[in-house]
Amino acid sequence: MKHRIVVKVGSLAVTDELGGVSAQKIKALISDLHELKIHGYLPILISSGAINTGRKLITKPDEKRMMISYQQSCAAVGQPLLMKSYIDALSEYNWPCAQILVTHEDFKERKRFLNIRNTINRLLDDGILPIVNENDTVSFEEITVGDNDQLAVMMTEASDAEKLILLSEADGLFDKNPKEADAKRFEEVEFNDNFSGVKIATKTSVGRGGMDTKLKAVRKLTPLGVDVILGTFLKEKAVSRLLIHKGGTTFKGNPTKQKSRRKSWLSTVVKNDSYVVVDEGAAKALLEKDTSLLPVGIKKLSGKFKRGDVIQIRHKSKIIAVGMIEYDTKEMELIKGRKSDELNSILDFAHSKVAIHKDNLLLKKDEL
Ligand code: GLU
Repeated sequence: MKHRIVVKVGSLAVTDELGGVSAQKIKALISDLHELKIHGYLPILISSGAINTGRKLITKPDEKRMMISYQQSCAAVGQPLLMKSYIDALSEYNWPCAQILVTHEDFKERKRFLNIRNTINRLLDDGILPIVNENDTVSFEEITVGDNDQLAVMMTEASDAEKLILLSEADGLFDKNPKEADAKRFEEVEFNDNFSGVKIATKTSVGRGGMDTKLKAVRKLTPLGVDVILGTFLKEKAVSRLLIHKGGTTFKGNPTKQKSRRKSWLSTVVKNDSYVVVDEGAAKALLEKDTSLLPVGIKKLSGKFKRGDVIQIRHKSKIIAVGMIEYDTKEMELIKGRKSDELNSILDFAHSKVAIHKDNLLLKKDEL
């Protein structure tokens, strides 16, 4: 089983202080992530830095604090340059990457959320590194994610990652301003420990997050069983050193939820009035071989469901699993009992070969 982790780097981790992308910083980051990949991790990278990269190329407006259109233009110019640098660094390892630009709206709307989730699953299955940033061109006040720390939280939820690593200047959380000589770093914070009242470093002038948004991420994700790790990008092997506890602060996720976040989530949202009935072969494949449920194994449907609903899977009137369905009732009626390679000729748009992907399936026998 591979371990999904989301790694978020702030602008200064990949660009130069005065603007422009830093090929050197990106090379070091990719080499570190590649090492993790070799050790069984599947990283998803959230990278800021588009605005600061583009800053070098666009004339600064006179206004004191930069206009949003200036920042958006910088991002539009900077994003491809940032990606180019990533592609160059990744080429050394023959590791392809994908660019994903999203806004807050995309996570709020269920269909779009599912599309993000499916794309990420697919990319990771194919060994591709997803590189995510906010789509700054269309991000204005109402739809902005706010900062890439929040975006990283949303991506961690959407991808069911086990850990979120947030890299910034400070090497974690300290009991006082880390610039003071006797400041002590918290190495590990147990789930639900009270860390209010500790002094936090102020945010940098580049990028939108700060320690505040990082602690927000901790409050949001640790109850779901996700470990959130804060550390500095200024050290060598910035990400892997955190995973072996050589620095940074690890906020432990709720241990009872950790076992299987996706599974517990599925069982809480299942629609009890909707189900598919599967044949002997499909039931056996699901229970014994840990496979996805294919349309060919479905004999009958009951109730009404939409794509993305979590429904029951029954065999001989027993519920054997629950899972997130890829097609709505109408479509399922048309494709049940049919082979996956026939789907394209039956439906206008057959976006998936499976009815329920194994990543979105909880077998009753495994239920927590
Ligand atoms: N999306 C912005 C960029 O690429 C950064 C936002 C942030 O740092 O939170 O420059």
